[in-house]
Amino acid sequence: MRKIAIYGKGGIGKSTTAANLSAALAQAGYPVWQIGCDPKNDSTRLLLGRICPQTVLDAVRSQGEELSVDQIVHRGFGNVKCVEAGGPEPGVGCAGRGIIIALEKLKALQTRMNDELVLYDVLGDVVCGGFAVPIREGYASDIYIVSSGELMSLYAANNIAKGIAKYAGRGTVRLAGIIGNSRNIAGERDLLHEFALLLNTRLVAFLPRDSVVTQAEVQRQTVIQWAPRSTQAGLYRDLADTLLTNSNLTVPTPLELEQLEGLVLKYGANALAY
Ligand code: ADP
Ligand code: MG
Repeated sequence: MRKIAIYGKGGIGKSTTAANLSAALAQAGYPVWQIGCDPKNDSTRLLLGRICPQTVLDAVRSQGEELSVDQIVHRGFGNVKCVEAGGPEPGVGCAGRGIIIALEKLKALQTRMNDELVLYDVLGDVVCGGFAVPIREGYASDIYIVSSGELMSLYAANNIAKGIAKYAGRGTVRLAGIIGNSRNIAGERDLLHEFALLLNTRLVAFLPRDSVVTQAEVQRQTVIQWAPRSTQAGLYRDLADTLLTNSNLTVPTPLELEQLEGLVLKYGANALAY
């Protein structure tokens, strides 16, 4: 089954989106893993109803080499198998290096994951070192980038696309689409649509900014669990279907910085003209 990675700038909505997708897929009857690759360790919080009690790196630190599956795989909503890579103590060590060690440990679980859906939730402003591992080492093949219409988010998305383009030549990794997560920028959907086309991919969803997401977050739940009949939950379920059926997997064509700035200017200028 599909091995998916969700990338994007910090704070853009990767974990929220990933957790809602996992919840929707689990509810649809698929066996799902969600692997958090962000030293914040909060990727699986909405599925577990709390911060992951033990990350892979915590377990490595306390147990050394002998890790058992039970220590690092935590069952969440819908029986989603939740794993957090973890990170170094704040201010000490390199987070990217932590991801490398954690994913290395997860290799032992790979046979269990083979026939199941795996979602990696990866912090990736720039695809450096450890954060490139899910792309570089073939852990994931379908890469989705979460972005808003803000320049810095697009800039990060474009950098991630550069990373994918670089590794696509040697392996099976492909860009599967842009997931728009709105910041209520004027013309945002059209901007993201054009950005996706320029990157040789498509805008697979445009998720509005909705207070139901915040309400669910306060309850430590996904929207799928907290407000299953909400419009937002329906959009996450639609996107989950797209993830399963998407055959539009491409090698991205990253933009030059001037092109990116021009795009933002074009839609920003259009908005001012209204
Ligand atoms: P990331 O994992 O990319 O760092 P998060 O998923 O943690 O980002 O989201 C950052 C914040 O934005 C969270 O408080 C989350 O609830 C909020 N958020 C994400 N998507 C939406 C949305 N569509 N509508 C409202 N709030 C959102
Ligand atoms: Mg996150």
